[in-house]
Amino acid sequence: MTAQRVAFVHVDLDDLWAIAACYGVSVPHEMAAHVYRDAIPRLKVLFEEAGVRATFFVVGRDASDAPRAALLQTLLDAGHALGNHSWDHNLNYRRLSEADLDADVSRSERVLKEMLGVVPRGFRAPGYGASPALLRVLAQRGYAYDSSIMPGPWGWVFRALDRRMQRQAGKPDGGGAKSQYSNWGEAFGPLRPYRVDQDRPQMVKADSPLLEIPAATAPLLHLPFQAGVSMRMGEKYFRTLLRSFAWKPGMPILLLFHGADLTDFSQVRLPFFRKAGFFNIPVETRAGLARTFLEALKERAEVVTTEDWLE
Ligand SMILES: [Zn+2]
Repeated sequence: MTAQRVAFVHVDLDDLWAIAACYGVSVPHEMAAHVYRDAIPRLKVLFEEAGVRATFFVVGRDASDAPRAALLQTLLDAGHALGNHSWDHNLNYRRLSEADLDADVSRSERVLKEMLGVVPRGFRAPGYGASPALLRVLAQRGYAYDSSIMPGPWGWVFRALDRRMQRQAGKPDGGGAKSQYSNWGEAFGPLRPYRVDQDRPQMVKADSPLLEIPAATAPLLHLPFQAGVSMRMGEKYFRTLLRSFAWKPGMPILLLFHGADLTDFSQVRLPFFRKAGFFNIPVETRAGLARTFLEALKERAEVVTTEDWLE
């Protein structure tokens, strides 16, 4: 038998304030950390029961807050890894200069080190906003991998879904100008992890110090292999995509969660979250689907952290 395929589980820990900013709404101060408080304990139990260790991508500003750092510590204690998800989840990440990116990435790094003693080895840009400048910064700062490039042509679908949620909530111009999700230049890059040419991010460069692990994209149609999208589209979507990895033998499978996937939004008394479809799926239903996804993933691959796999 050939060596077993590996799978990674990643979680982008966007707290409620960051989710709200994506849709151009604001949340009262006392609710800003709701995702951390509500979802981290639930994710911890979910992964413990499934016997899975994951990498959680952390927004530095959240880790600078002692109660949230304590929640992150519980993840470290359970054997999970932490990656860097920028300092404050700027949604125009793709447009920042190299100097601004270096300041942003390093500020988040410092907080992770000070609060948790962690030196992150991986990075994911807010809104999948990768750029040559970002990859140069990560390579210079000694990161082992970036996982920001979403090699699918579906960026426009995500943007359209976001706009629909904004309309449902009566916020037609919600987030304003954003550069989230993949653009055409990235749509047809490799799906496998590859040594990335910092100047041409969809190209392989054998001696590059930085590994690009494309963000959760399935073979064939290059659809997003994400828990939240699968919760909306249904179990069949998830299983169809999982099967499609058979077309890429040996390629690691990356399944991406977001903190929101396991958050109970019924306590969030804001019109936007009441009206928008996804947030109204009961959290028990979403947790049940997440368990199903992890069990199915484990039938096809050995789930390891990206950090352990890199060793
Ligand atoms: Zn994010």
